[in-house]
Amino acid sequence: MSATIIDGKAYAAGLRGRVAGAVADLSRDGVVPGLAVVLAGSDPASQIYVRNKARQTVEVGMESFEHLLPATASEAEVLALVARLNADPAVDGILVQLPLPAQIDSQKVIEAIDPGKDVDGFHPINAGRLMTGVPGFVSCTPLGCLLLIRSVRPDLAGLDAVVIGRSNIVGKPMAQLLLGQSCTVTVAHSRTRDLEAVCRRADILVAAVGRPDMVRGDWIKPGAIVIDVGINRVPNPQAGEGKTRVVGDVAFAEAAAVAGAITPVPGGVGPMTIACLLRNTLQAACQRRGLPMPALDAA
Ligand code: NAD
Repeated sequence: MSATIIDGKAYAAGLRGRVAGAVADLSRDGVVPGLAVVLAGSDPASQIYVRNKARQTVEVGMESFEHLLPATASEAEVLALVARLNADPAVDGILVQLPLPAQIDSQKVIEAIDPGKDVDGFHPINAGRLMTGVPGFVSCTPLGCLLLIRSVRPDLAGLDAVVIGRSNIVGKPMAQLLLGQSCTVTVAHSRTRDLEAVCRRADILVAAVGRPDMVRGDWIKPGAIVIDVGINRVPNPQAGEGKTRVVGDVAFAEAAAVAGAITPVPGGVGPMTIACLLRNTLQAACQRRGLPMPALDAA
């Protein structure tokens, strides 16, 4: 068997196109959604992420507001900025890039964001809404994973889903989303016993760990949908000394020989995260003005 490769890059491009169409419709009524991003410090990965996000925000016709603070910024400065963005009518969505410098309490900053502008879905109000099945903002990466899963299998009811990883950003919201689709969900983590056996039960397997090629081909149930969230940089001596390449948490070739469908790394889940952030910003802009959210998510 050879798995269907789920093309997250193409799906994300399509979703961004649908967001851009909806933004163009809104602009005819004088509404331009705005997304503010706060970055403190000069972490190179965060800088690349923020730059890509700003470019894609503008490409779909939204306004992008970048707030770059030094690594020495105090917690009070970040909280004051968040308060200003909460009050700014041009700002529909606020994203504070994590991790924040050590002197700043990230949870305090997350909880200071207006839940109606919390397009990352990290505020406890939005996490609670997801848990209780009430509409709210859903974290972008797990939302992107769900869209990709449903692009190959729209009805997930009754399937066994295993999520490896229990972070607030990926693992826990992913589990809630799959529960919301009536899957039977297991959350595995670093203390799980016999992880291989747990994974072999999965009709849907989501790996969000951060360990290169951890999930092997013989952990996969034949025909399963495998979603690889991991982004791991490993040495790539073939490309030259000191060169690296990005791999996921799943040993791709082995797993693709057994799975029914699988996301590659790169080009799978990665591109979905920013596309879903733009989707959430559109949702925030509509919600704040009492407008209905345009239907976007159909493949
Ligand atoms: P995290 O470090 O917060 O969580 C990792 C989880 O993996 C933990 O819950 C831990 O219990 C579990 N774990 C660790 N070792 C394990 C083991 N040996 N067996 C089973 N479980 C184990 O990480 P995160 O923020 O959830 O991110 C996970 C991965 O996803 C990372 O590689 C990260 O770079 C990637 N990621 C990708 C995107 C994207 O846009 N594609 C977004 C966020 C995170």
